[in-house]
Amino acid sequence: METKKKILIVEDEKNIADVLAVNLMLAGYAYDIAYDGEAGLEKALSGEYDLILLDIMLPKMNGFEVCTRVRRKLSTPIIMVTAREDEKDKILGLDTGADDYVTKPFSFNELLARIKSNIRRSSGELVADKNAGEANAILQVRGLTIDTERYAVERDGTPIELSKKEYDLLVFLVSNLGRICTREELMEQVWGYEGFYGDIRTVDVTVNRLRDKLEADRSKPEYLFTKRGIGYYIK
Ligand code: CA
Repeated sequence: METKKKILIVEDEKNIADVLAVNLMLAGYAYDIAYDGEAGLEKALSGEYDLILLDIMLPKMNGFEVCTRVRRKLSTPIIMVTAREDEKDKILGLDTGADDYVTKPFSFNELLARIKSNIRRSSGELVADKNAGEANAILQVRGLTIDTERYAVERDGTPIELSKKEYDLLVFLVSNLGRICTREELMEQVWGYEGFYGDIRTVDVTVNRLRDKLEADRSKPEYLFTKRGIGYYIK
């Protein structure tokens, strides 16, 4: 029997947490709830979850801090749940290493689509599918090496730590070496959303983060390039 995917809900509003829990259960997921940031961090670091739903405004430790600390240790997909419409919050959330965000109020179907997409991508099916039947699981662009069996990225022999989304983005761009990928295409292929659900700026923020990690000097990129107004490519 297939084991259920387990989701950690970090949410201080009990009624919201309960609604999420019931809906997740009905959708076939197992879950745990933490009602404050510290408890959420402690549970998250156990590493037993397939995805974390993380509220931002939390007692004891806010969601950004929780996210930053989880990211130091784990690459578990994190979806930030924000009540605020503030654009800065969204960007900050993605900067702290969240994979995605939803703004309250959201429909459960929208959230479920994002949960599925983030778990699917993080479990490496995308990469596994791409490499099915191929002998070589190592992708290489000059000094950049991606070992798709170990999910390990190195530049000139130095390991680079990437979040799942940064990794997926890198693998997709390298798999399409030299071809300009539009932001819409990346949203769809890497995040798994049709344009309707996704915020296209998520792509830009993640590309920027990837560029910071990849390039020795981000003002003189050697790998990751921007085609202004269109999209991104690696060559
Ligand atoms: Ca809250």
